[in-house]
Amino acid sequence: MAWRKRDAADGKTVRYTTLKVRLCPTEAQAELFENTFGCCRYIWNHMLADEQRFYLETDRHFLPTPAKYKKEAPFLKEVDNQALIQEHNKLAQAFRMFFKNPEAFGHPGFKRKKADKDSFTACNHVFESGPTIYTTRDGIRMTKAGIVKARFSRRPQAWWKLRRITVEKTRTGKYFCSILYEYDSEAPSPAAPTAETTIGLKYSLAHFYVADNGEMADPPRWLKQSQEKLAKLQQRLSRMEPGSKNYQEAARKYRLLHEHIANQRRDFTHKESSRIANGWNAVCVRDDDLREMAREIRLGPVPDAGFGMFRECLRYKLERQGKPLVLVGRYQPTTRTCSACGFAGDAVPRKAKTWVCPKCGAAHNTEVNAARNIKRNGLAQICA
Ligand SMILES: [Zn+2]
Repeated sequence: MAWRKRDAADGKTVRYTTLKVRLCPTEAQAELFENTFGCCRYIWNHMLADEQRFYLETDRHFLPTPAKYKKEAPFLKEVDNQALIQEHNKLAQAFRMFFKNPEAFGHPGFKRKKADKDSFTACNHVFESGPTIYTTRDGIRMTKAGIVKARFSRRPQAWWKLRRITVEKTRTGKYFCSILYEYDSEAPSPAAPTAETTIGLKYSLAHFYVADNGEMADPPRWLKQSQEKLAKLQQRLSRMEPGSKNYQEAARKYRLLHEHIANQRRDFTHKESSRIANGWNAVCVRDDDLREMAREIRLGPVPDAGFGMFRECLRYKLERQGKPLVLVGRYQPTTRTCSACGFAGDAVPRKAKTWVCPKCGAAHNTEVNAARNIKRNGLAQICA
């Protein structure tokens, strides 16, 4: 993920990007992580309890700092102090949000081992002797854990500044680290979209999307295969005795596969959105209600294909290159208008693959036809 923080005075923009890497900690490092998760929960819950007590007694809000607890709980000294400070910052932030808008955010709550995610965050500090957190060829150096083995799927750029890391453990027992980087970049000069450099995309259940030039982004076959496997596993689970050994084993498999699919889908979405954002100066899509579509899709044979995430990825990847994502009104008759002559016919049945224009006789692939109309509509908006 990357987003713009503020426009610096020199025309440069501060941007952030996150790398997520799989960690392979040693046994001792895993134990340290577990202790850190536990200490973070401990400190959060104690600060919260004391804040509440103080408020009852004095009618004032006051959040103690982690240092206060180290005497009564010496085990806190064994984990990275940065992680504890971050809990303080997170709790303070949760209170600020709550005071600002109590209805939307709710009062900060206590953390429970079972219900809350195991994670901790630590900021990088750069001293004369060097930074406290840095990456090596195949690992990440952390304050207390030392160098933890990590698998990088892409490398940080040399000019990126490592700001902070968040270590988390999934329910399947895997450790991941999200590394947040900051970097300066020149503000992008706006690209000039033309008909040749603009693409129109139509969401498609069967093909993920169909472009006005006839291109389709078929999600890889393995994605479909894993989804079928997942459906079978789910069916098997529903027939088993909850709590039994077999059930637990099947549930573990189910969680693993679920995680695997989420990763596959994320990879696919990122690759496709990058390819399009880099290859075109403007992208036109219909402003569909994706939640509504996802509901419809779930009822059909194809599980949620991640349209929303794809559009979001497109938006920010285009934006950082100064390119627009043009949204075409969802009530525009893009499917029943002939892209050759502009004639608007009667509604085309949802399942129809082809459509022949009653006026000019042009035979269309319905989805390509819609993509062309989306593009024409979008271009009209850009040039308006
Ligand atoms: Zn026509």
